Amino acid sequence: MNRLRHLALLALLGSTFPAFAQMAPPDPPITIDTHVDIPFTYMREARFDAGKDTPLLVDLGKMERGGLNAAFFVIWVPQHKLDAAGYAKAVNQAEEKYEAIGRMLMMYPDRIRLATSPEQAMANRKAGLLSAMIGIENAYSLGHDLNRLDAAYDRGARYVGLVHVGNNDLCTSSLPDKDNGEPAMNSKGDHGMTDFGRQVVARANALGIMVDISHASDACVHDALAVSKAPLIASHSGARAVLDHPRNLPDDLLRAIAAKGGVIQAVAYKEFLKSDPGREAAEKKLQAEVAHAAGDKEYDSDKHDYLPAMAAGMAKIQEKFPLPTVDDYVKQIRHIAEVAGIDHVGIASDFDGGGGITGWKDASETRNVTAALRRAGFSDADIAKIWGGNLLRVWREVERDAHH
Ligand SMILES: [Zn+2]
Repeated sequence: MNRLRHLALLALLGSTFPAFAQMAPPDPPITIDTHVDIPFTYMREARFDAGKDTPLLVDLGKMERGGLNAAFFVIWVPQHKLDAAGYAKAVNQAEEKYEAIGRMLMMYPDRIRLATSPEQAMANRKAGLLSAMIGIENAYSLGHDLNRLDAAYDRGARYVGLVHVGNNDLCTSSLPDKDNGEPAMNSKGDHGMTDFGRQVVARANALGIMVDISHASDACVHDALAVSKAPLIASHSGARAVLDHPRNLPDDLLRAIAAKGGVIQAVAYKEFLKSDPGREAAEKKLQAEVAHAAGDKEYDSDKHDYLPAMAAGMAKIQEKFPLPTVDDYVKQIRHIAEVAGIDHVGIASDFDGGGGITGWKDASETRNVTAALRRAGFSDADIAKIWGGNLLRVWREVERDAHH
């Protein structure tokens, strides 16, 4: 259709159906969020049934409505002691999450499919289906056994996050457990990667699993860059030059990850976008109150985050200490694009793990991110790279370098 006829048709549609008067710009070829958490009772408790309307920030309906095509669902376990009991517990906790994702895929095959390769993610997109990918957050859940990484690959895991909060048997953390005597990041005692950590990176390279350095200490990232034969990803990290937080990456590491062909998936997590001690204190207080009212000694995000009392309290906190906005988030993306290059930046929400900001409060608002990128001057080609093109390129390279 020529342009004039096209415009005439749009004008006609606009007068007949007002919604067409402001035609939405096209969606990117694929939108991939590389970090979505799930509760331990995901798909087991009725309120966490992803096929229904849920209090979760990501469920299938929210993804479909918001135009979020694909997400890495995360096998996260908290850090405990590096002993037999600790490892056994972590292995079991990871198992619960694999089973939960499997249950979602089994129950809703007409809406979401597992993608274990970039081609499958694109094929699902073309078929109008959502994609679920699997990532590991905190390789403590391997239970200090390299064979479990092979098993994770067989179950569909395609990235392995080395460490979480607190040092583990692979790496020092960007947030070490100082209460239990772990030395601060970049202090003398920060040893970086262990021999087991090096073995995990080498085995991940061989299998074709992406190595994820989010949460790792600077020293561990340097070690991963030296050890890994394939490009690295940061599945959910920001830029320290924009906001000085240990979880954000300094410019030299952004450049080094890019120089090795990798990608930094900027994260929409409030505390890495804006420093707000008042809000942090108010949230801690609310968490303690909600836990107490529920008859629990300690706050447990899975148990308490989705209670009505928490939602009401958070709304009050929001009035006094507003969350960062989607435009603050795009500032991080812009900085990473300027320092690392447009081919080395992507998107991660950290939804249901603390993510969620004004303008991207849940997956149903995903198109707001695309709109904010456009407002900031990114072209459609840039946006396609940021929303998934870059991540898929890295994934393909990691696959190509693998030798099972
Ligand atoms: Zn995380």
